Amino acid sequence: MWPPKYKGFMTFTRELPPYEPPESRVKHFQEFTSSLPADRLKAQGYRCMNCGVPFCHSGCPLGNQIPDFNDLVKDDDWRGALEVLLSTNNFPEFTGRICPAPCESACVLGINEPPVTIEMIEKEIADRGWAEGWIRPEPPRVRTGKRVAVVGSGPSGLAAAQQLNRAGHTVVVYERADEPGGLLMYGIPNFKLDKGVVRRRIAQIEAEGVEFRCNAEVGVNIPLSELDQYDAVLLAIGSTRPRTMADLGIPGADLEGIYPAMRFLTQATRRVLGKPINDREITAAGKRVVVIGGGDTGSDCVGTSLRQGAASVLNIELFPRPPLQRAPRNPWPEWDFVLRTSSSHKEAPGGDCREWCINTKRFEDDGTGHVCALHAVRVEWSEPDAAGRRQMRE
Ligand SMILES: Cc1cc2nc3c(=O)[nH]c(=O)nc-3n(C[C@H](O)[C@H](O)[C@H](O)COP(=O)(O)OP(=O)(O)OC[C@H]3O[C@@H](n4cnc5c(N)ncnc54)[C@H](O)[C@@H]3O)c2cc1C
Ligand code: SF4
Repeated sequence: MWPPKYKGFMTFTRELPPYEPPESRVKHFQEFTSSLPADRLKAQGYRCMNCGVPFCHSGCPLGNQIPDFNDLVKDDDWRGALEVLLSTNNFPEFTGRICPAPCESACVLGINEPPVTIEMIEKEIADRGWAEGWIRPEPPRVRTGKRVAVVGSGPSGLAAAQQLNRAGHTVVVYERADEPGGLLMYGIPNFKLDKGVVRRRIAQIEAEGVEFRCNAEVGVNIPLSELDQYDAVLLAIGSTRPRTMADLGIPGADLEGIYPAMRFLTQATRRVLGKPINDREITAAGKRVVVIGGGDTGSDCVGTSLRQGAASVLNIELFPRPPLQRAPRNPWPEWDFVLRTSSSHKEAPGGDCREWCINTKRFEDDGTGHVCALHAVRVEWSEPDAAGRRQMRE
């Protein structure tokens, strides 16, 4: 019987769809998630308590109307749910796949139960919207006569371009790379965000009337004066310059074999897309790889290295292993600083390849200008002081 006698959160437990097992998914670069059957998706939507004060709203940087779309999913009104979702979020098929989901950290149900599966529901609504043909180009009915240049086509540039165009302005997007998308295209690996999903959205924005000019780096091969013709210019250029080990003054950081993550990941995606690599080839195949930094970018490098056939992968992190549960100074509804083990880390032999509290001291030259060893020390961290700062000791 639907809906069941008792409220969803009293009847159903949190459920996520299974992933393809690690041993088979590391053999390819495709997405490996699946979907729950429709009745179990509805049950997940019904777990939402429709709180009087929905703290999930404050957790979501977009202000998504989460209880509203959860309720519509519960009632099997997927099209209505999509409308609600699109009213605040231009690209739910991206956020439903890769957002860290601060809404779930802030979910009221999360105080004493596993939170509502908000991100998974978002992905299902978006994917259904595309599959059903409900997401279509929405060109403006009238044009304002104003022209806007958007520089950069990552998620911020794309969202701005889409909104400005829908408001009737004529929008031209300048992109340095050979294809739009920013880090959606060349940073985040294909196995987390399929590039077909990114291209599908860019095609929709183009069909709405936005013009994309690629291989166009403003200030380099596009003179700044070209922007004078526009009524407004929006800079959405991201943060290209990496903070390298050389910037940190680590001796040997300029040896061959040490690369910033984006050089490695961009090449990896270009290879997956069958594009030429216009750089010295970097591959983890057969190599003993150390990934420095245990955050999301490090995790993407781990997953990519494993897929490329690395002989071994070790991921080192300066900070200590986070606790399994919220620390007293990190109460709900704050973002919960707890141990998260990404799907990439789970793919490593033994189920994790991270070592915590490791500080890199220097890199060793093999005599040919190539790195052959990394020298590091274990560190200890003091408890945070009143301002939340910790002291490190080797
Ligand atoms: C490896 C990696 C994994 C990530 N994974 C996640 C994740 O799982 N979840 C998540 O929420 N976030 C993730 N992020 C963060 C997320 O990708 C960024 O926050 C987001 O892409 C920033 O968007 P943006 O539009 O500001 O910049 P970007 O995506 O960096 O786009 C900026 C664009 O501007 C272009 N550009 C720069 N200068 C010029 C110029 N002069 N002329 C023309 N074009 C120019 C660049 O080529 C680029 O395409 C990840 C980041 C990285 C690096
Ligand atoms: S906080 Fe959680 S339970 Fe409450 S409305 Fe938001 S998603 Fe639903």
